Amino acid sequence: MQKIIVASALALAVSAAWADQTVQADVVIVGAGGAGFSAAVSAAEAGAKNIVLLEKNPVVGGHTVISGGSVNAVDHERQKALGIEDSAEKMAAQTMKAGDFRANPELVKTLADNSEAAIKWMEKLGVQWNPRVFEAWGGLFARSHNSGDKNAGHDYIRVLNKAAKEHGV
Ligand SMILES: Cc1cc2nc3c(=O)[nH]c(=O)nc-3n(C[C@H](O)[C@H](O)[C@H](O)COP(=O)(O)OP(=O)(O)OC[C@H]3O[C@@H](n4cnc5c(N)ncnc54)[C@H](O)[C@@H]3O)c2cc1C
Repeated sequence: MQKIIVASALALAVSAAWADQTVQADVVIVGAGGAGFSAAVSAAEAGAKNIVLLEKNPVVGGHTVISGGSVNAVDHERQKALGIEDSAEKMAAQTMKAGDFRANPELVKTLADNSEAAIKWMEKLGVQWNPRVFEAWGGLFARSHNSGDKNAGHDYIRVLNKAAKEHGV
């Protein structure tokens, strides 16, 4: 209990110190979860400077850091090794079906078309994908990945946070 009070007081003190500052930025991203970190690192890789990633909580990671971390993606390398035939078209069709056809088809297509590039990008940043590709709950097909870490969501945020710091975000 004492530790929580000390941590909360520290977070408030840090927030108060930042509240008085004016920061100039070229790119401002709100929310330091998986999406925000990915946007920040991608922006830096594309050449953007002065990137600020805002987070309302005292710690980064959002839901991503506590998630199981199953990542659905077409993966010719690992799926092929397991005899699994997959494609972006199949992933998009199954994602629509799994969502009871309520999802935006264009966004689902973007997700599926870029899924393989996304896991390769995360791998390049330091995520070590488990060779086992599996069917996640609700996923409808064996295309789910997680990292070797037993807490995969934490692993993704650790890797993205490191990359963001290296880019000066
Ligand atoms: C227990 C659990 C298990 C899960 N398992 C899986 C899984 O295995 N596979 C899967 O695909 N998905 C899973 N999910 C869902 C997945 O975690 C989320 O879809 C994903 O993490 C969303 O990422 P995000 O970056 O959009 O949001 P988040 O990771 O939640 O990040 C959003 C961040 O924005 C911050 N924020 C919000 N508003 C503001 C504001 N106004 N100002 C500043 N900061 C703000 C939040 O504090 C947070 O840090 C799981 C979720 C949970 C809770």
